[in-house]
Amino acid sequence: MAFEGLADRLQSTMKKITGKGKVSEQDVKEMTREVRLALLEADVNFKVVKDLIKRIKERAVGQEVMESLTPGQQVIKVVKEELSELMGGEQSKIATADRPPTVIMMAGLQGAGKTTTSGKLANHLRKKHNRSPLLVAADVYRPAAIDQLETVGQQLGMPVFSRGTDANPVDIAKEALEQAKEQNNDYVIIDTAGRLHVDEDLMDELQQIKVAVSPEEIFLVVDSMTGQDAVNVAESFNEQLEISGVVLTKLDGDTRGGAALSIRAVTGKPIKFAGMGEKLDQLEPFHPEGMASRILG
Ligand code: GDP
Repeated sequence: MAFEGLADRLQSTMKKITGKGKVSEQDVKEMTREVRLALLEADVNFKVVKDLIKRIKERAVGQEVMESLTPGQQVIKVVKEELSELMGGEQSKIATADRPPTVIMMAGLQGAGKTTTSGKLANHLRKKHNRSPLLVAADVYRPAAIDQLETVGQQLGMPVFSRGTDANPVDIAKEALEQAKEQNNDYVIIDTAGRLHVDEDLMDELQQIKVAVSPEEIFLVVDSMTGQDAVNVAESFNEQLEISGVVLTKLDGDTRGGAALSIRAVTGKPIKFAGMGEKLDQLEPFHPEGMASRILG
């Protein structure tokens, strides 16, 4: 399960404070020390942890706790609220263009789960929002990537726009948009190329596609199991491409949660969805509050 290592640790810390009829400064000090260690061990960004602990401390010795009839529980509520805020607070929605089609560009490093997530997102849009997406194979460098998206399209019974490996990704994106208009596809999901590392060629190409099709959303797909690496990748994509949101994949196997808890604070961009398995229906809208409750029990 996602975050189970972190959850176990934080929950045992919270147990010590939950029944307290009075919470002393010493109690708060011990609690925040343990929370701090647990978060650092979960690979949460150092500065993010520092700021978070400061806020928790201020609130935990403040009025809302002192005046509460159940101070121990109030402290836990404070920690939960702060964790939720850290992940963005509110759940964020997916954009819709004033005039269809809405264009969503999927970016990310190879292996992060971009192609799978493109399919999952198309499936989500059809099932939950009654939309009819067109999937676009714009990763022309790896024939296997095109085949993979076509297979995903077949599994879902959804159209895939592909021009093989000879065409230019910018042209592919533009032509796909035209086809979507003709065939009444109200969402266009562009699966762009990934590389092993963030590099200039990759960013150039993504910027060109961005300029050519003015996407309503640019989702960066990152593997949550890579912790702070995922956060660094998100930071550089955001600097160079200005992403609109993040999809965290492989959360089902992430016992630590460092990326989930850091990305929003570091990049300022919300986590929009979480991948919870390999299957095409295993994508969930990301609920910060629900995640915080999952972590703290
Ligand atoms: P791409 O290179 O970024 O397009 O990555 P792929 O879509 O090919 O995914 C790489 C691997 O990660 C595949 O084996 C996927 O099945 C797997 N994968 C993607 N998302 C998830 C997820 O949310 N959970 C799990 N467990 N596996 C995932």
